[in-house]
Amino acid sequence: MHKAGFVNIIGSPNVGKSTLMNGLVGERISIITSKHQTTRHRIMGIVNGDDFQIVYSDTPGVLKPHYKLQESMMNFVSLALTDADVILFVTDIFENEMNHPETFERLQKTSTPILLLINKIDLKDQARMEERVKYWGEKLPKAQILPISALHKLNLDFVFKKIIELLPENPPYFDKEALTDKPLRFFVSEIIREKILQNYEKEIPYSCEVVVESYKEEPNITKIEAVIYVSRDSQKGIMIGHQGSKLKKVGTEARLEIEEFIGKKVFLKLDVKVDKDWRETEAKLKRFGYN
Ligand code: GDP
Ligand code: MG
Repeated sequence: MHKAGFVNIIGSPNVGKSTLMNGLVGERISIITSKHQTTRHRIMGIVNGDDFQIVYSDTPGVLKPHYKLQESMMNFVSLALTDADVILFVTDIFENEMNHPETFERLQKTSTPILLLINKIDLKDQARMEERVKYWGEKLPKAQILPISALHKLNLDFVFKKIIELLPENPPYFDKEALTDKPLRFFVSEIIREKILQNYEKEIPYSCEVVVESYKEEPNITKIEAVIYVSRDSQKGIMIGHQGSKLKKVGTEARLEIEEFIGKKVFLKLDVKVDKDWRETEAKLKRFGYN
């Protein structure tokens, strides 16, 4: 008998969804950061065993749509609810109620099995944890509740066992050799984006987008050209920094990590371009791969 299915992780921003998925998949494939809204893509990680295949997807935090980008992100969340075989609903010990009532209502109505994971139990006492278990148990009686710490990998083996139990009987969906369905250039743009997040303050990271324009593998080196799109001239200046120092730092840090990731020497060319209203235009969102 072979089991396979889609396990979708949903929950409010910052509760630890990416940390959890990385813990479950065992490879660093999603950006982890304390700032909100960094996970814009529907990233999948695949874990294979002899008789199972778990396809994880890590969705952006549940948000109210304010502008087009967030609407597009919400679509991922809807998708995550409808195409799942198992839903991992992640909350943390601090969250008092689900921040997005519409999504929570859908969770209450769905017939898909839900594992409700109360994360970050390393940060609060037993009493608070018990109070949270009681609260969520009343709100979502059909869910199985598990307290965990994604960061410290506490109870993740238990989560894994439960997932296997709940997976339907299916042949594998993806080639078992594959770790992920996204091409290398996607990881490259994620790594660059992570370095931008680490190097700039405030709205800069959120008003930019990274596009890998060319990716050429040569025998001893991989040559990559990427463009960072920002929405204003002033942001371009900040991005580049005094005499190009800031961009150079981002480029070096990204290159080193890409080299580590692909196990090969990398030549990375980074450019900054101004693209005034990329957030607002549906067509552009498509071009940037959000649809
Ligand atoms: P996401 O927005 O839901 O994907 O959340 P992230 O996975 O990016 O995590 C948000 C923050 O919470 C990061 O700083 C993580 O290191 C931290 N975090 C995640 N899980 C745990 C945990 O179990 N314990 C503690 N102490 N911190 C955690
Ligand atoms: Mg995340």
